[in-house]
Formats: sequence, C-alpha cells, structure tokens
Amino acid sequence: MLMKTEDIQAMQRRIGVKDDGVWGPVSMAACRGHLRKLMPAINPWPKSDRSSLIAFYGQPGDESQLVSFTFPYPMFYGGKRVLTSRCHRKVKDSLLRILAVIGDRWGDRPEIMEEAEDYGGIYNFRNSRGGSSLSMHAWGIAIDLDADDNGLNTPWPLRADMPLEIMEAFSREGWLSAGAFWTHKTVPNNGYDAMHFQATQ
Ligand SMILES: [Zn+2]
Repeated sequence: MLMKTEDIQAMQRRIGVKDDGVWGPVSMAACRGHLRKLMPAINPWPKSDRSSLIAFYGQPGDESQLVSFTFPYPMFYGGKRVLTSRCHRKVKDSLLRILAVIGDRWGDRPEIMEEAEDYGGIYNFRNSRGGSSLSMHAWGIAIDLDADDNGLNTPWPLRADMPLEIMEAFSREGWLSAGAFWTHKTVPNNGYDAMHFQATQ
C-alpha cells in the first residue's frame, strides 16, 4: 500500500523536520541522518567492496559459512508460512535481534508487520538485480522484506512503502537500508530497492 500524506507526515515528525507531507531534499537528508545516528559508533560490519567483504565474510557462495535459524515471529513467503532460513554465521545473532525487536515493538501494528512478515529471501548465490557484481545475498548477509511493494526500481518513499520503523531496527545493528541510502536514479530525493537490508557499512 502506498504511503499516504499522513504517513509521510508521521515519518517527517519522526526524523525531526517540518511535517508538510512533501518529501524533498531536506526530508531525505534528515532521514539518512536519523538512521545513521541510530547506528553503533563503531560499525561492526565491513565496507561493501568485494575485497572487504571477502576479508570479513569469506568467499561468496561458500555455504559452509551459513547457519540455520528460526524466525522469532511468523514469516510468510509468497503467502506460505516459513519457520526457518539460513544466513551467514557472522550476521545471525544480529539479524535475530533485529527481527525480535521488530516483533516485540511493532507486533500490534499491522501496517508495520505487513512488511516485516513478508519474507523475500536471504541466501541466494546470484548477481545483484540488474547488475554484474555479486549481490550481498551471495554471502547470506542481506535480507529482503515485502518485495512486491518495495521492488528494485520502486522509489522510496514515493511509491515503496517500507516503514521507517523497520529501517530503524536495522540501523541500530549497523545494517544498511537500501531504500533510504541508495539514491534513486530518476526520482529525486528517493531511494530504491527498499525491500533490501544488508550487513555492511
Ligand atoms: Zn536484496
């Protein structure tokens, strides 16, 4: 569901700018600042270039680095319940803390859990969508949520509906929220790939 003007206004109050319902450069910059401020002073994750990733996480596609875990709240993949998944061993505890916080704090807010419960995948040995470099999913260090409403090229927050509260939970563990930090190529003051969260700086 698209964010309504009052959703944008609520987000503007959350990030501390004038709540006029118009998402411009001031809102986007404040949003990034707000999320960065929540991040640990020393970010535990590596930079996202290939050599930093390999030094920290090992080779992409190395399934011996993956561990299984159980989701802390009900997850659904294409409408079907999923109980467990796999991720890189180094991000497991952090990811479980993030999901537990989302479930504990926002479990009674359907408009947030709607996105948080819609699982889109973690480990997948493939190139990034529309790109030639390997996706962070090839290391099992990224998770996608609500891919239908937060697609790769869907501008956030103009059309993609990932709640800021979910991005905040990832920021507190130092993860990067693509929707807020990756600049949309054609829509000003918007991000893209808002489904995607990764354990890199
Ligand atoms: Zn992704």
